[in-house]
Amino acid sequence: MSDIACDVLVVGAGNAAACAALAAREHGASVVMLEAAPEDDSGGNSRYTAGAMRVVFNGVDDLAQLYDLTDEEKRDVDFGTYTADQYLDDLMRVTQYRSDPELAEMLVEQSFPTMRWMRSKGVRFQPSYGRQAFKVDGKFKFWGGLAVEAWGGGPGLVELEHKACKQQGIDLRYETAAANLIEQDGVVLGAVARHKGKRFEIRAKATVLACGGFESNTEMRTRYLGPTWDLAKVRGTRFNTGAGIRMALDIGAQPHGHWSGCHAVGWDLNAPPFGDLEVGDNFQKHSYPLGIMVNARGERFVDEGADFRNYTYAKYGGVILSQPEQFAWQIFDAKVIDKLRDEYRIRRMTKVRADTLEELVKKLEGVDAARCLETIKAYNAAVMTDVPFNPAVKDGRGTRGLVVPKTNWANVIDTAPFEAYAVTCGITFTFGGLKVDTGCQVQHTDGAGIPGLYAAGELVGGLFYHNYPGGTGLVSGAVLGKIAGDSAGRAVTAR
Ligand SMILES: Cc1cc2nc3c(=O)[nH]c(=O)nc-3n(C[C@H](O)[C@H](O)[C@H](O)COP(=O)(O)OP(=O)(O)OC[C@H]3O[C@@H](n4cnc5c(N)ncnc54)[C@H](O)[C@@H]3O)c2cc1C
Repeated sequence: MSDIACDVLVVGAGNAAACAALAAREHGASVVMLEAAPEDDSGGNSRYTAGAMRVVFNGVDDLAQLYDLTDEEKRDVDFGTYTADQYLDDLMRVTQYRSDPELAEMLVEQSFPTMRWMRSKGVRFQPSYGRQAFKVDGKFKFWGGLAVEAWGGGPGLVELEHKACKQQGIDLRYETAAANLIEQDGVVLGAVARHKGKRFEIRAKATVLACGGFESNTEMRTRYLGPTWDLAKVRGTRFNTGAGIRMALDIGAQPHGHWSGCHAVGWDLNAPPFGDLEVGDNFQKHSYPLGIMVNARGERFVDEGADFRNYTYAKYGGVILSQPEQFAWQIFDAKVIDKLRDEYRIRRMTKVRADTLEELVKKLEGVDAARCLETIKAYNAAVMTDVPFNPAVKDGRGTRGLVVPKTNWANVIDTAPFEAYAVTCGITFTFGGLKVDTGCQVQHTDGAGIPGLYAAGELVGGLFYHNYPGGTGLVSGAVLGKIAGDSAGRAVTAR
């Protein structure tokens, strides 16, 4: 491969990168996109998602601008609303009020217009009936502020984004990884890349880094997240090895955000080390609010019903990782089995079933069975059976008097058959990254913007701390990607 030149170089080919490339192209810039992965594994973590997208909507009329709805759906489905204030409150609450206010406001304010823009580029969305709605009195009612998902999930999103990029004449190069930035007198002039072992230069007037966090790099995980994070499974792409962050730090970029924090979930104990596109995100096991989780000691260790799963799942992976031997079993009884999410009905999972609790606890590999039986009995005795159970709201049906309480959706585990699922920690993406300004220009440690360098997506730090509201990764990637692409396109075409 010989050296090439373009106006805007975009490193990465996930959702943030595609939005950046399409936005830069709108300014008339010539755009080259580099994808480290081969075509059949391209699109990064974005492709591994189910496509849930958290967006502001003030009613069904807003949603009708994002996807087609029938008159019956408009009339009969309770989509609710998700206002800008609610979005900001949720983001701030789950991040313990640390989220960078400038980035947070950009994300919230631009979420709806950005998704409308994505639709205009050919991306399609649909209502997320399967995951975010419960039937109450025969009618669908959405919950948790999430009513939109990408059509075809992550694979559909990436397929349509790559199609749009190619239609716009964007030069998308697979199996081509950026290795370092070309910098002269403090200005970024493109990158050196590798394709099939050969290095070459891409000279560009502006460069957008959108090549993910360091979740797939065992060494960086251990260095920044801490001990045992080397033992976590990776839920998505194996290509997000922190290369973009490292390249930028090498030329003086400012680190920002929660470098020892990440998004990590309960993930099948026997899932492979990296994501598997045939299974997608179905190794996750997110119905724990309807049951209990026990560790190797046979003890509960977390409030499974602290909040809607949207607001707890992203931190509970880390909690599971910190248990002895890094695993847990989720336990359910027949009363809730039909309410378990779709991912509990796949073939590749670690599951046991029994007709009595005594039999079940003996089947939980690695668990102190006697102690586990005591735990279940103590939990059962503590459930507030006088409060009605309702999975569509925070029902307040908790436990009384337990050291580890359960706050909502507590049900006595007493009806056969009983089922249990073994989980460990699956890391999704890392929170620490680069500091950008409101135009997504990367900031130098000296406080000024680095000329010619922009960033978007997972490798931007400052939005997420400790936790994350479900469906925000794709939308933040899209919002920042579009802003970065706009800034880069404007900068090069204004010259
Ligand atoms: C299993 C799973 C389920 C998820 N579900 C959801 C969900 O439903 N909703 C949601 O909002 N978020 C979800 N997320 C999080 C979401 O995927 C990410 O937040 C988002 O996709 C990040 O987008 P991105 O473009 O920054 O990174 P990515 O989509 O990961 O893209 C990074 C790109 O950079 C490429 N790359 C890496 N290094 C280089 C290099 N040196 N040179 C060139 N290219 C490189 C990668 O191959 C990839 O194409 C999920 C993640 C996973 C793993």
